[in-house]
Amino acid sequence: MSESAAKLRANLQAIQERIDTAAQRAGRRSEEVRLLAVTKYFDDETTRAVVEAGCRCLGESRPQQLWHKAAALSDLPQLEWHMVGHLQRNKIKRTLPLVSLIHSADNRRLLQALEAFAAEEDKPAAILIEINISGDSSKHGFAPEEAEEALQIAASMRHLRVGGLMAMAAREGDRDRARRDFAGLRELRDQLLRVAPPGITLDELSMGMSGDFEEAIAEGSTIVRIGSALLEGVTGG
Ligand SMILES: *Cc1c(COP(=O)(O)O)cnc(C)c1O
Repeated sequence: MSESAAKLRANLQAIQERIDTAAQRAGRRSEEVRLLAVTKYFDDETTRAVVEAGCRCLGESRPQQLWHKAAALSDLPQLEWHMVGHLQRNKIKRTLPLVSLIHSADNRRLLQALEAFAAEEDKPAAILIEINISGDSSKHGFAPEEAEEALQIAASMRHLRVGGLMAMAAREGDRDRARRDFAGLRELRDQLLRVAPPGITLDELSMGMSGDFEEAIAEGSTIVRIGSALLEGVTGG
């Protein structure tokens, strides 16, 4: 094993241990928290090494990079790709067939276009509704006060399967601020559940990145999206 592959394994193990500890501390089982390796900073070879180290759920934030990596790693069995970044409508056609979950359903026209494509293919599309929970003007996502309408729209679409919510913590902020943002997403989910159409359970909360995943787990995260922490000390990422 190369030195960087060994380092990658050690990083993965350390992150998994931190996930386990954070889950335990919150009285949760660590199996309730999925680790999604966000590979946007990784070259193809390093991405392959991440899979070999045991990650089978991979995420990308740019459609073109997702297309490229999915093709480059197509020989690896049972990979699951997730789209975590902004998806332009003209990129749906090439992206949707490759992914098992879109975390970033962030506007109404995108919901409509996803439904249209999924209907054409007669294949349901699994999505999370992205919420701009921190209110950063640079961020995508529905405002919290638009969330109920977004949920009603998505739930009314026959080919969309809404699994929950996704958000990022404030860009400028410490861990306490991140924890408040994550608590805000969980509370919003709980409010939405009271008005959600039957059959919608919103089980997934995609929240937490390298710098704040422990806070996210404390607030109920079910998917942590981790990139840079995996790469620490790895050359050639
Ligand atoms: C890049 C990215 C991540 C991972 O961020 P790190 O801080 O590197 O762990 C998670 N989610 C989204 C949407 C991203 O774009």
